[in-house]
Amino acid sequence: MDTLTLKIIFLVCFILTGIIRKPYQKKIKENTIIDNRKTPLENSLLASVLLGMFVLPLIYIFTPLFNFANYSLPVWAHVLGIVTFALSLYLFWRSHHDLGTNWSPTLQVREDHILVTNGIYQSIRHPMYTSIWLWAIAQALLLTNWIAGFSGIVALGTLYFLRVGNEENMMVEQFGEQYQTYRQKTKRLVPFLF
Ligand code: SAH
Repeated sequence: MDTLTLKIIFLVCFILTGIIRKPYQKKIKENTIIDNRKTPLENSLLASVLLGMFVLPLIYIFTPLFNFANYSLPVWAHVLGIVTFALSLYLFWRSHHDLGTNWSPTLQVREDHILVTNGIYQSIRHPMYTSIWLWAIAQALLLTNWIAGFSGIVALGTLYFLRVGNEENMMVEQFGEQYQTYRQKTKRLVPFLF
């Protein structure tokens, strides 16, 4: 597939993630934050995801600045990228739907926080991170550029590995044994695997 088609496909999926998130972003305002762990580390992790998954892809899509770092992939890899992004979109919607007003873009506990263990959360503890991992992989398969293609994996990888342990500790502090039991029964990202 040619670069323009791939850029358009990526952009459409990218816009769809925004459309999926918007109503949930509005809804969480109903549930007041009572414990905010938005540390300087969290802020810099969020900024690096903004750079790696939003700013750099958009620069590559709309300007020729990164063209010196282009690579090419076979058509099957592009198709895999589309399927991966489609799966990511489904999981992104599903995790938002199941988390409802318990969602936060960072580490926060809300007034009426409920531990969600049903729906997609019955199979894995971090389906939203799974969906964003799939998005980052799709980014490397659709934006065939060493900078804009791989910046997503680097940024998300950093956020994921530095955040997920802290998030689970926060959930243990909040929900105690209920979360410990839930943690024993489930994997983090992929059912039955890891
Ligand atoms: N890690 C989860 C959620 C990401 S949003 C996922 O990938 O699907 C991050 C916020 O979700 C955290 O601040 C925490 O308050 C909340 N959270 C994480 N797991 C939760 C659960 N099982 N039930 C309720 N809230 C949860």
